[in-house]
Amino acid sequence: MSGDTRQTEAVHDAIEAIADRLADEKEYLTELDSAIGDADHGANMNRGFQAARDRVAETDGDPAELVKTAGVALVSEVGGASGPLYGGSLLKASQELDDGLTAETTIAFAERYLETVEERGKASVGDKTMVDALTPAVHTYKKSIEVDDCEPIEALGKAVDAARRGVEFTTPLRAKKGRASYLGWRSVGHQDPGATSTLYLLEELLDVATEYENGEVAVDAEADIDPDELPEPDAEDVPVDGGD
Ligand code: ADP
Ligand code: MG
Repeated sequence: MSGDTRQTEAVHDAIEAIADRLADEKEYLTELDSAIGDADHGANMNRGFQAARDRVAETDGDPAELVKTAGVALVSEVGGASGPLYGGSLLKASQELDDGLTAETTIAFAERYLETVEERGKASVGDKTMVDALTPAVHTYKKSIEVDDCEPIEALGKAVDAARRGVEFTTPLRAKKGRASYLGWRSVGHQDPGATSTLYLLEELLDVATEYENGEVAVDAEADIDPDELPEPDAEDVPVDGGD
């Protein structure tokens, strides 16, 4: 399978995995949104990603095209805050994947996605929104690759941990944006639904990337074998040809 086909399959699998996860978490996300919002975040995310899954399944294209298709599906299927924020940002950031999935393009994608969420939602870290999970994840991913020389998969693992801490960080905050902000101080003590769904997306990306990475390792290991480095066969293993 060529690298391009592999990347396209990985994106198909990632969207599939996210759609499954959001279906599983629908009730929980709704419970979180019923405490500080209008109890629709689970339904919104589930509806949006089921539509994204259906449209992406019918799309032949490179990773950028698939991510763009998912973004369009979210924008058109989901109203409220999360549809335009998730969908519009995927749509915008998908351009960064025009050259496929590499350390550089995925960093650019992550940064563009975060920038677009911030621009559209006018939210910053500490406002008790998805930005609180996304910002530490994106910064950790970039820093792990560019400063610590991590492989993208390891950087993604660290980004997921950072997002998890970001989600926990939302609980004691007072909401400054979105519906939860209408509650003022009563929003304190509740975990933010959008930060939570952002973590689920990242966890699924990590899972799928790990599966593909493990496959890659096997293929690369085979291709990297240098015949000159192989140990000499034992004398009794050497085929003896005829004669005496
Ligand atoms: P709605 O609030 O319109 O019902 P959802 O319930 O689907 O939409 O999504 C709520 C989530 O959206 C919040 O938990 C928060 O993380 C995120 N959110 C809301 N407003 C903003 C904003 N202005 N910027 C960033 N994220 C926001
Ligand atoms: Mg809501």
